[in-house]
Amino acid sequence: MAGTNTHLIKAKQMHQKAIVFDGHCDTILEIMNHKKSLGSRTPIGHLDIPRMKEGGVNVQFFAVFIEDIYKPDRSLKRTLQLIDCFYREMEKNQDEISLVTNYNQINEANSAGKIAAILSVEGGEALEGDLGVLRILYKLGVRLLTLTWNQRNQIADGIGESRTGSGLTEFGLKVIEEMNDLRMFIDVSHLSETGFWDVIKRSKAPIVASHSNCYALCPHPRNLKDEQIKALADKGGVIGITFVPNFLTQEKRKTTVKDVVKHIDYLVEKAGIDCVGLGSDFDGTDVLPLGLESVDKIPNITEELLNRGYKEREIEKILGDNFLRAFKKVVG
Ligand SMILES: [Zn+2]
Repeated sequence: MAGTNTHLIKAKQMHQKAIVFDGHCDTILEIMNHKKSLGSRTPIGHLDIPRMKEGGVNVQFFAVFIEDIYKPDRSLKRTLQLIDCFYREMEKNQDEISLVTNYNQINEANSAGKIAAILSVEGGEALEGDLGVLRILYKLGVRLLTLTWNQRNQIADGIGESRTGSGLTEFGLKVIEEMNDLRMFIDVSHLSETGFWDVIKRSKAPIVASHSNCYALCPHPRNLKDEQIKALADKGGVIGITFVPNFLTQEKRKTTVKDVVKHIDYLVEKAGIDCVGLGSDFDGTDVLPLGLESVDKIPNITEELLNRGYKEREIEKILGDNFLRAFKKVVG
């Protein structure tokens, strides 16, 4: 069918032209645990450079995820081990990817045909209650901190603390202030709802939810309620729609790329297109939707957006321009 072919070609061209910016993956831990390399295509995991190229990914947040066994008192050492692993991968693959710490470096890397990699830490336990550690992590290149994982830490309660669901501690408030001063992204994915509202109130800069979906479509505590979505959007922030099936639907069925785009549609309808981004969670989940099994499949999102009547400029914003705008504003 000629019509379908033309449509596919258009989607491919549009995807290639756009800057694709993914707000979250857990690939560093996957590399550390499976002794694989970012540079070679392997059937293990969801993300490596060859498949990123096929998927047209230009900018990628690489999160340092601290496993439970290291919490709380070995969190910092584990964070440093994972950052070391990340740095070694950047060195090994320096012709194809580089660590970037500001907006200009993203453009420089992309212009040189390289993927721009941004370092983030998933879980404020990495700070071990010390603002000095935050400042040193910034110097190591970290530009985003997910304040909590599911548990409680020194900053706040995560969504797993459903009995208490407390907001930010005194230390947590200081972290917000320091992150604003340093110009780091504050990430509210995994944070308790009370904590979310504290951050909205206290942060002077736009904030992000690097990998969260819409509660109205899938009532999981990891997802954001309508009022949260609106507040985050009003502040100029971005929500990275995540591909994790449990956060897409509560129906017991195989999810597809269409389910991901349903959450995108919902965000656009509730809070406008400027707050929408992607936050895959590749290598942070065992199961992924049909048509989004690994990073090389990301162009399927562009095709589905085009199917649903999105215009080119709108698609560009969703794929990466919104995250880029927020990065420029917050990080500089
Ligand atoms: Zn996560």
